[in-house]
Amino acid sequence: MGKPTGFIDYERELPTDRDPISRLGDWKEIHNHLPEEKLKVQGSRCMDCGIPFCHTGKLISGMASGCPINNLIPEWNDLVYRGLWSEALDRLHKTNNFPEFTGRVCPAPCEGSCTVGISGPPVTIKNIEVSIVDKGWEEGWIVAQAPTKRTGKKVAIIGSGPAGLSAAAQLNKAGHTVTVFERADRPGGLLMYGIPNMKLDKNEVVLRRISLLEDEGVKFVCNTSVGTDLPVDKLLKEYDATVICTGATKARDLPIPGREFKGIHVAMDFLTANTKEVLDPGGDYITAKGKDVVIIGGGDTGTDCVGTSLRHGCTSVTQLEIMSKPPLKRAANNPWPEWPKVYKMDYGQEEAAAKFGDDPRVYLTTATHFEGDADGNVKAVHVVNVEWKKDDKGNFGPQKIPGTEKVLPAQIVLLAMGFLGPEQPMLDALNIERDPRTNIKAEHEKYTTSIPGVFAAGDCRRGQSLVVWAFNEGRGAARECDRFLMGSTDLP
Ligand SMILES: Cc1cc2nc3c(=O)[nH]c(=O)nc-3n(C[C@H](O)[C@H](O)[C@H](O)COP(=O)(O)OP(=O)(O)OC[C@H]3O[C@@H](n4cnc5c(N)ncnc54)[C@H](O)[C@@H]3O)c2cc1C
Ligand code: SF4
Repeated sequence: MGKPTGFIDYERELPTDRDPISRLGDWKEIHNHLPEEKLKVQGSRCMDCGIPFCHTGKLISGMASGCPINNLIPEWNDLVYRGLWSEALDRLHKTNNFPEFTGRVCPAPCEGSCTVGISGPPVTIKNIEVSIVDKGWEEGWIVAQAPTKRTGKKVAIIGSGPAGLSAAAQLNKAGHTVTVFERADRPGGLLMYGIPNMKLDKNEVVLRRISLLEDEGVKFVCNTSVGTDLPVDKLLKEYDATVICTGATKARDLPIPGREFKGIHVAMDFLTANTKEVLDPGGDYITAKGKDVVIIGGGDTGTDCVGTSLRHGCTSVTQLEIMSKPPLKRAANNPWPEWPKVYKMDYGQEEAAAKFGDDPRVYLTTATHFEGDADGNVKAVHVVNVEWKKDDKGNFGPQKIPGTEKVLPAQIVLLAMGFLGPEQPMLDALNIERDPRTNIKAEHEKYTTSIPGVFAAGDCRRGQSLVVWAFNEGRGAARECDRFLMGSTDLP
């Protein structure tokens, strides 16, 4: 700990994002960097407390508290304060294969459990993380490190999202010959087709790292859906072990009257086609240009739909949220070091507020039905306010409040209400055991499925979650897979 009084002497400071209005004119990343001198000051705010909670990664009340991959945060904060950037990068890579992804998109549960955060604003952990790794790339410190010895074992990974990528990186490091199968035309899973370019650049950030993995010996086979283009039993026979990382891609629908009208889309169809258009212009995509947009779902996917619609040039945007507006400060039943459930404006809401004057989220509201025009196009969403209470049968849930009905004009509606688990056909073909939520049944930290030599990690095992949890699981599944193949393992 370089400066014992740093957390008293200095205020928390983050770089200012690009101006919300001007950034709507492009798809470039919205974040700026702080200069090195300022980052050192921010690093010095870390107390290096006796028992740091920032790197614990435990679930408290069902939410992550601390970093799920146990990043060595106090160590690299101190190294940054002392200007030892290359050493900080080494520490960061010990626990995180891809800090440039988490440093951009992680909601930073570490900061929610930072000890400085008990009495004031926490250390800017996420920003320091991304600054370390971005400097590493700029300085040319991040280079391919292929294993010196190969084990002769072949591992197949199905799905190239963050779980598949981290499993591939670790298994390759252990000397196995790794092939990643991906049904999309580019690898990356939701890092590629899901999280939009303005949060995470596809060519400059995602593909840069994937090309490094290729240089280290990982093989990516895209445009190949396992179970359709490649029979899954054939794959299992050809490889010594398999890690399934297919994500939880089954979107939750909203089967209310009028769902059949044209112009109502699940969010992922909208976001995926948009990123494809950004990368390969001139194709077919769903545009919000000149339209009133209603997004159903107030979470991160909904936020990405807000940012994307604004860049298309929508006329208005409304985001419906069935839950109540969170408090500005932690509630008494949500104490430190729990994940702070507090009101935040994310990038999409900031942009909407700059463009239209207000946060687009409308709380405690649900859609009752869609209205269409004579040509079968959606033209409005009928909504009603709700309150959360017990019904006649004693079940707690949202109850409609009569007399609060409203009609919102909408020529495009985006359903962003979460995901129901992994797609089932390939899992059915494998006859692999599932849990009651249809996820692949495998214990956390073990990752072994009902089929010997087949492991499962990421959203297909734990359900819809976060990139950082996918990293936790991909790394863990790689460790267990290595143990299965070799009898013991040195992977963390
Ligand atoms: C729009 C959106 C925004 C998000 N934003 C954030 C964020 O900002 N921060 C955050 O931490 N988390 C975010 N998340 C959640 C996060 O992206 C996921 O938790 C994470 O990507 C899960 O990783 P995964 O590797 O398990 O699965 P995925 O990333 O879903 O990857 C699964 C991959 O498997 C492939 N696949 C599926 N079936 C087959 C098959 N049969 N054959 C071959 N390939 C197959 C899919 O095409 C996909 O590429 C977001 C999610 C969405 C939908
Ligand atoms: S990966 Fe996420 S939780 Fe871990 S240190 Fe980085 S921002 Fe924090």
